[in-house]
Amino acid sequence: MMRAMIKSSLDVSATGRIRKGVTDSMNAAERLIDQLHMGANTAVAVHNPSNMFYLTDGYTGEGVVYVSQASRVIITDFRYTEQAERQAPGFRVEMTDKTRHDTNVLAELVRAEGITELRVETDYLSVDDYEKLRADIGEEVSCASLNKAPQLLRQVKTPPEVLTIRKACDITSEAFSAILPKIRPGMTEKELQIELDFTLFRLGADELAFDTIIASGENGSLCHAIPGGRTLKNGDMITMDFGAKVGGYCSDMTRTVALGQPSAEMRKVYDTVLRAQSMCEEALMAGKVCSEIDKLARDYIDARGYAGRFGHGLGHSVGIDIHEDPRLNQVCRDVLKAGIIITVEPGVYLPGLGGVRIEDMLLIDGETPRDLTEFPKTFTVLPERADR
Ligand code: ZN
Ligand code: ZN
Repeated sequence: MMRAMIKSSLDVSATGRIRKGVTDSMNAAERLIDQLHMGANTAVAVHNPSNMFYLTDGYTGEGVVYVSQASRVIITDFRYTEQAERQAPGFRVEMTDKTRHDTNVLAELVRAEGITELRVETDYLSVDDYEKLRADIGEEVSCASLNKAPQLLRQVKTPPEVLTIRKACDITSEAFSAILPKIRPGMTEKELQIELDFTLFRLGADELAFDTIIASGENGSLCHAIPGGRTLKNGDMITMDFGAKVGGYCSDMTRTVALGQPSAEMRKVYDTVLRAQSMCEEALMAGKVCSEIDKLARDYIDARGYAGRFGHGLGHSVGIDIHEDPRLNQVCRDVLKAGIIITVEPGVYLPGLGGVRIEDMLLIDGETPRDLTEFPKTFTVLPERADR
C-alpha cells in the first residue's frame, strides 16, 4: 500500500518530467519487480540478450536471467560463468552442463522458492524453447507472458544511460568531422565505409551500432544502401548513416553532403529535408503522440512536391538496441515521455537522381528536447578535388 502511494506520486507528470525519488535509486531488476507488482510467488525468466544486459546492468554473455523477490540469478555455461560474476556482481551464477540444462536450473529455482507463476518472453522464445521450458518446470507452475515489460522500462532512460548514449553520439559526430577531409573523387563507397568504421573504433566505439550505410550519387535513392564499388565523383551527393556502440548503448546519425556543386534539384531536396527535420525536432515534447510528429514531416515533404518519396518512418527510439519503441511513424499512437531518446530522420529519395536523409538523436526532456547529435546540419558542400 505504502509502495503504491509512493509510486502514484512519482509517475510522469503532465509536463513529462522524469520521475524522481525512490525509483532513481532502484536498479533495473527492482524496477521490473515494481512495475509488474510481483509478489513472492512470481518469477521472471529473461532470454533476450538486450533485456538480460539491462536487468543485470552489464552482463553480455549467453544464458537466462532469473529474477524473483528472493533472488537474482544468471544461468549460463562454463564459457560465461566467470564473465557473469565480473559483469553482474549482484547476481548469483548457476552453471549448466550436459546433464543440467538451463530449464532444469529454472525448475530447481521455482521449486525451491515456491513460485507458482513464471513470466517469460513470448516475443522472443522459439516454440521449441518454450515447450522444453514448459515441460521441465512442471505443471504446478503456470507460464505467462512478460508482455515486453523489460522493453517498456527500457523506453525511459536513466541518467547514467543518457550519459553513455551521449558518449556514443559524441563519437559519431567526431568521426564525421574527421572523415570529411578524406572524402575525394576516385574513392569507392566501400573505401569510405572502411575509413569511417575505422575512425569510429579509433575514437572509442566498442563496436558498430549497425552496418554503416554509404550511398553516393544515384545510389542515394536506396534508403539502406550497402556500400559498394561505385566511385565517388564531383557533383555527387553522399549519404552516410552510421553509429557507434559504447558501454552497451547505441548512437545513430545520418548526414548527406555534396562533393562539389550539387544540382539545383538536389539543393531543393536538401532544404526540404532539413526544414522537415528541424520542424519535427522543435515539436518533440513529452505528451505528444508519435504519429503526429511523423505527420508534420510527411505533410511538409508532400507539399514541397515530393509526395510518396519519403517512404519510411520518421524515427525510432535508440538504446541497448539500435531500433527500440516507441517509433515516430504513421501508426504509432504512443505518447512521448521524458527520458525517451529518439531519432528524427526524414529523407527524400528520387530514383535515378539520388537522395537526402538527415538524422539526429534527441532526448525528450520536458518542453524542449536535447539534441544529442552535435554535428551541424547546414548543407556541407565539400570542395571539388582532383582524383587521387
Ligand atoms: Zn541511422
Ligand atoms: Zn535511425
